[in-house]
Amino acid sequence: MNVAPHPHPLPDRAAQLHAALEPLMEEVIADLTALVRIPSIAWPSFDPAHVDASAEAVAGLARTAGFDEVEILRAPTPGGEPGAPAVVARRPAPAGAPTVVLYAHHDVQPVGDTALWATPPFEATVRGDRIFGRGAADDKAGILVHLTAMRLLGDDLGVGVVLFVEGEEEAGSPSFGNFLREHREKLAGDVIVVADSGNWKVGTPALTTSLRGMASLEFTVATLDHAVHSGMYGGAVPDAALAMTRLLASLHADDGSVAVDGLRGEEAADVEYDEAVLRADSGVLDGVSLIGRGSLSSRIWSQPSITVIGLDLPRVDVSSNTLQQSVRAKLSIRVAPGQTPAEALEAVRAHLRAHAPFGARVDFGAEEGGSPWRADVSDPVVDTAMEALTAGFGQGAVQVGLGGSIPFIADLLEEFPSASILVTGVEDPDARAHSANESLHVPDFRSAIVSEALLLEELGRGTRE
Ligand SMILES: [Zn+2]
Repeated sequence: MNVAPHPHPLPDRAAQLHAALEPLMEEVIADLTALVRIPSIAWPSFDPAHVDASAEAVAGLARTAGFDEVEILRAPTPGGEPGAPAVVARRPAPAGAPTVVLYAHHDVQPVGDTALWATPPFEATVRGDRIFGRGAADDKAGILVHLTAMRLLGDDLGVGVVLFVEGEEEAGSPSFGNFLREHREKLAGDVIVVADSGNWKVGTPALTTSLRGMASLEFTVATLDHAVHSGMYGGAVPDAALAMTRLLASLHADDGSVAVDGLRGEEAADVEYDEAVLRADSGVLDGVSLIGRGSLSSRIWSQPSITVIGLDLPRVDVSSNTLQQSVRAKLSIRVAPGQTPAEALEAVRAHLRAHAPFGARVDFGAEEGGSPWRADVSDPVVDTAMEALTAGFGQGAVQVGLGGSIPFIADLLEEFPSASILVTGVEDPDARAHSANESLHVPDFRSAIVSEALLLEELGRGTRE
């Protein structure tokens, strides 16, 4: 779509919107607190009643934010299981105006070890500039950015809006593809704003313009047809633990960069990570070096990585003097933009087959893949979003990549190939999404709300004039 030039400076309008937001903030924080209180974990081993309750709560908020049609919808997963409830709320577009789809998710990650939390994970707690709680940032704040931007603009809206809040993102969005197909006409839009990413740092807004994809692969290495005594045979008979650890070691060069032929990546990145910040944010111990080659941002955003995320060996406290017959491992592979997960998996399988030591047998098990993504940054809607973020935060917006994956972006593109996708979000490097003590930076939350209101106004302005 085309975006007309500005009639008035965006910073002035941003100041008006910040002033209009101020009296709403107490209620917005109360709404966020109420959402955080619902432990809406969509993983199969948790009670799905909480996910239903959070869908109801989001639907209630959508009604008060001025949506005409509010529904809770589901679709089956490919395996035929019922998917989690998603909230779809709509305000039709004025004649000739574009429709903007506002995406967020109302499910959250499990909390892990509660002893690591300074305050109870489901009780939103304010400390300094931040609100702590599971989902306070990822992604219940994203829901409230959308709803509050709508409230700020009231009836004066030049675009149609579809609010789409799914309930199973942290569980891998298993019914998402079917959901898009079954509810296609309700979800269609010209611009899709995904509020599930983060800013470059506190106070500096970012538009996420590339995402790494993800692939996982389970495999088993076998050397014996049964386990045997390490005293009787050790030294002559290769055991599967030795073969597996040597094979895993072959996946990386001495500097820790990925050593698998056929896995591609690139160097490009607009902004550079400060090494000290990266070390502090990730908690690298003193004396431990970083790994990989090239700029730090490219290592995380546009080069592949491989992590061993599971390894089935006997636990130390039940270990015995035994040569293992077979050992299973699971790899998580981050796929650089420009390569498909299928290509990446084939490269890793070929490497494992070629490098198995002692002629050990390698058998492949379950695998999964989610595609990487790169935005079309020549799309004028990207410029509009950058300007709205800059004005809303009062600080120049930057384009960043994300080392993680948002696999449903590929589903969205498949179903709505001509839509502009804008990936925004309220997280910052210290938000600790998925970890203990997750938190939201409240001043950036405000700025994100104002930026989104500006974006909606700008996207609608062309039609009203
Ligand atoms: Zn999220």
